[in-house]
Amino acid sequence: MAIATINPATGELLKTFEPLNDAEIAEKLDLAQQAFEKYQKISFQERSVWMQKAAEILEQEKADFAKIMTLEMGKPFKAAIAEVEKCAHVCRYYAEHAAEFLADVSVKTDASHSFVKYQPLGIILAVMPWNFPFWQVFRFVAPALMAGNVGLLKHASNVPQCALAIEEIIQRAGFPTGVFQTLLIGAAKVADLMSDDRVKAATLTGSEPAGASLAAASGKQIKKTVLELGGSDPFIVLESADLEAAVTTATTARMLNNGQSCIAAKRFIVVETIADKFEKLLLEKFQALKIGDPMESETDLGPLATPDIIKDLDQQVQVGVKNGAKVLTGGHALSDRPGNYYPPTILTDISPDNPVAQEEFFGPVAMLFRVPDIDAAIKIANATPFGLGASAWTTNSQERDRLIEEIEAGSVFINGMVKSDPRLPFGGIKRSGYGRELSIQGIHEFVNVKTVWVK
Ligand code: NAP
Repeated sequence: MAIATINPATGELLKTFEPLNDAEIAEKLDLAQQAFEKYQKISFQERSVWMQKAAEILEQEKADFAKIMTLEMGKPFKAAIAEVEKCAHVCRYYAEHAAEFLADVSVKTDASHSFVKYQPLGIILAVMPWNFPFWQVFRFVAPALMAGNVGLLKHASNVPQCALAIEEIIQRAGFPTGVFQTLLIGAAKVADLMSDDRVKAATLTGSEPAGASLAAASGKQIKKTVLELGGSDPFIVLESADLEAAVTTATTARMLNNGQSCIAAKRFIVVETIADKFEKLLLEKFQALKIGDPMESETDLGPLATPDIIKDLDQQVQVGVKNGAKVLTGGHALSDRPGNYYPPTILTDISPDNPVAQEEFFGPVAMLFRVPDIDAAIKIANATPFGLGASAWTTNSQERDRLIEEIEAGSVFINGMVKSDPRLPFGGIKRSGYGRELSIQGIHEFVNVKTVWVK
């Protein structure tokens, strides 16, 4: 895949970038290693001043950064602004809490003094996707750099200007040269990087094949990875739910980021007694969404990031239909305009053996399932290879406790949509990946947990 900016709203090629050659990659690795030697010894206090400065730059120039995101991957500008603000939040969160999260922990044993000490590992490689081009990177950068590691970013090939802008923010914030660098490289170079002794670990957010490929390359080298992969999150609505609130949130949770979010609600599982009403309201909400130029403030749904995503989504919908699904609205790419536009789509009548029932739709397509009761709802919710997030709606406390206990996912949100928050751990189980980002768990992923025993 060429490294280039192509405006998804128009299809116009705006800028291409030459990938780094092997000598240039080697230079960046040398620089990162040299930076680590000194940076690991710098105090939390000093790191935190730079991290706060990064937050300040993000906040002060949010419109400029948001514009780059919208231009490169098509998310509505207002959502891009919110994303930059969230990046500032995660920088501040770790600037304020890293010292406390990584403080020595004293443990009583047979020693005169024993404790656990956390130390940085060195160079961490981050392989990141285009869908939240700033947020995905900052939720890695903030804990990794505060812990004393240094970062190399291999960003998705369609968001090079975002990748370069982030490198510049970190430099301008005052971090020493080499502490965070963007590598403009293709995916094929990732395995080589993992085989370099100086690269100690990696994190990847993206598709299952990419995750499996990085895990295999890292496994050969016995290096740790964190993987944040796909999801087909259930959104369960039971009879006692506040239906209006559930449908409004369902629409937001499916359409966020033009439908291209790993934690978007993708499978709507509704009990039969309220299913007709839910379906009617959801249809109304979907059809009321304004599709258009992502730079316009009234746009709800912008273009998908690349023509390939449209092609894949279209094909998935057709497979679903061939296997018995019905299209309630949408169902075909929009051909009346340039750019990668796909309308809000609802699929119903999806039998358990329809292959798409198990798949992730990475675009504005909702699957609607009707179930007789909570048992059937939980069974369908768990009947996918994924286990990222789940949203469930009920006001009955017994039902709530069962949903929390029995849903197989990295997170369960009751009466709210799944979202990431710097204060809460984020990640999945099953084929959605392993490891956690954010919160205290996130900063503990890339450190040596050193046991110290002194007699
Ligand atoms: P993708 O193709 O896997 O790309 C993600 C990143 O991995 C890009 O930087 C890509 O580089 C790189 N990559 C691709 N193949 C690779 C390989 N074989 N080895 C090493 N790196 C490789 O993902 P996508 O299709 O753009 O993103 C959508 C997927 O990401 C969805 O499944 C979504 O659910 C998931 N996602 C998960 C989370 C989460 O937190 N769990 C968050 C966001 C997205 P190139 O661009 O150069 O190919």
